[in-house]
Amino acid sequence: MNLERKFYIGIDLGGTSVKVGICGEDGSLLAVYEGPTEAEKRAEGVLQNIELYVRELVSREGYSWNQIAGIGAGIPGFLDFQAGLVKASPNLGWRNVPVKEILEARLGKEVKIDNDANAAALGEVWSGAGAGISNVVCYTLGTGVGGGIIVKNNLCQGFNGMGGEIGHMNVVAENEAIACGCGKTGCLETVASATGMIYMAKEAVIRGEKTSLALIREISAKDVLDEAKAGDPVSVQIVDRAAKYLGKSMALLSIIVNPQRFVVGGGVAKAGSYLLDRIEGYYCEYALENARENVDIVPAILGNNAGVVGAAGLHLYE
Ligand SMILES: [Zn+2]
Repeated sequence: MNLERKFYIGIDLGGTSVKVGICGEDGSLLAVYEGPTEAEKRAEGVLQNIELYVRELVSREGYSWNQIAGIGAGIPGFLDFQAGLVKASPNLGWRNVPVKEILEARLGKEVKIDNDANAAALGEVWSGAGAGISNVVCYTLGTGVGGGIIVKNNLCQGFNGMGGEIGHMNVVAENEAIACGCGKTGCLETVASATGMIYMAKEAVIRGEKTSLALIREISAKDVLDEAKAGDPVSVQIVDRAAKYLGKSMALLSIIVNPQRFVVGGGVAKAGSYLLDRIEGYYCEYALENARENVDIVPAILGNNAGVVGAAGLHLYE
């Protein structure tokens, strides 16, 4: 092994498991280790677990500690990324945890942190669907709608670290607006996340609308997408509404940061071109022609590894 080469470690911290990975300088993911978060052990115990997983991965794969040029962590919640502080993470039950300080003391390397959606976006830009493009907006359509905005190869975190929180763009028309988990109404997340789609599906069933969704015991977002593809009108309407507001949000972003590419990932995006084509249709309808010229909308390609790759890349992009 060439001892001159530098490597970066990424940590993707979730509520139930922690994924740790080693990346090369080109963003290639070389090895992964996954272990339980054990959130019940509180922040100190979880960060101790992370130290163990990182050291285990590095020694198991035969890297020398000196080759590790930096460590990054993607964490769900609201962070002060400059101070390296997790202000609040409802998923982990953390408040005001100085993650950077604790991990640097444990690991003896510089540590950078960011929220998990920004990390996933960075992963796609470093070595995924946005590779080689310097102005990209990434969407993650999962339980919520996460996002990351990269302008001139820099992650846009903003003054309060709220830059790129595109799931809370207030885009839904007032007559269709429903309450969001953030306390506001009409957020993109209420219609374009798995949670939002399931909610709308259940509401339609409760209202007694004629739909094949009524035959499904525990409706998932995949069910809604599958039934839409099969032609169920209620499901088509739900998917269409998600696509409409995603397209509208992209049109807005096109006159604010004007990215060259939109990358769409997350569980809901597994519906593939069925969803992406619809999003693009609405995007073209809403966006100014000059803003959308030569802009494309593509699926994410790193899947569940985007977060760990992007966390490793935090040292190169900020
Ligand atoms: Zn919201």
